[in-house]
Amino acid sequence: MTPLQRKLARIAGLIVALMFVVPGVLHPLQNHPLDLVNLVFHEAGHMVLMAAGETVMLLGGSLFQLLIPAVCIVAFVLRGDRYAAGIVTLWLGQSFAGVSAYIRDAPTRNLDLLTGDPDTHDWWQLLGGWNALNLAEPLGRAVFFLALASVIVGTVLALWDDVQ
Ligand SMILES: [Zn+2]
Repeated sequence: MTPLQRKLARIAGLIVALMFVVPGVLHPLQNHPLDLVNLVFHEAGHMVLMAAGETVMLLGGSLFQLLIPAVCIVAFVLRGDRYAAGIVTLWLGQSFAGVSAYIRDAPTRNLDLLTGDPDTHDWWQLLGGWNALNLAEPLGRAVFFLALASVIVGTVLALWDDVQ
């Protein structure tokens, strides 16, 4: 492969990644394949932090589904692979969007939960316990902003070495 071919292949890969991830950012928790991946890490987060008290355990699910892609991004950046870091940042964005949708769902609890019991809704328990269910919408919107920011940062990072 010539350097130009390699550059074009990387840009094509980024476009495919964006076409895959962006629908999952705009319509989170609607059976996007990445939602399943995030769910695995989400549930693992609850299990890992089970012994750390109820609040931390409840937060742990959302935290872990963000932490795992974040750790991968840091690992790729440390290796100097900005392209891979950028692609994984798109995944982080999609995971942020999922957490955002989960937070916003807290007052109404319309989402189908793994447990089948709406009373096990993480963010309903957290925000409800703090008497702060009215914060679900602004907090969810702030997290969604982070989702969009991640997609932009990821795209720039992935293009960094090829567009200059
Ligand atoms: Zn959970």
